[in-house]
Amino acid sequence: MIASQRGLCVICLKAPAVQVDHCHETGKVRGVLCFNCNSAIGKLGDDPDALRRAIAYLGGNSWKPILVAPGVYQLPS
Ligand SMILES: [Zn+2]
Repeated sequence: MIASQRGLCVICLKAPAVQVDHCHETGKVRGVLCFNCNSAIGKLGDDPDALRRAIAYLGGNSWKPILVAPGVYQLPS
């Protein structure tokens, strides 16, 4: 798997692939990452929606929750 990734982390494409990343729900191996990237996605809860919000945030568009009912927030479209 590391050879198929040319030895590099598949997220940052810079650091050596050293940590086997797996889905915590299915146990399936997703790829081999560097320490920082594996730690980063773990700290965001392996949550694709949180990662999308992080991307938007880095682009200058932070998510502003819209309260539509008590305790209910509307996601941006
Ligand atoms: Zn990386």
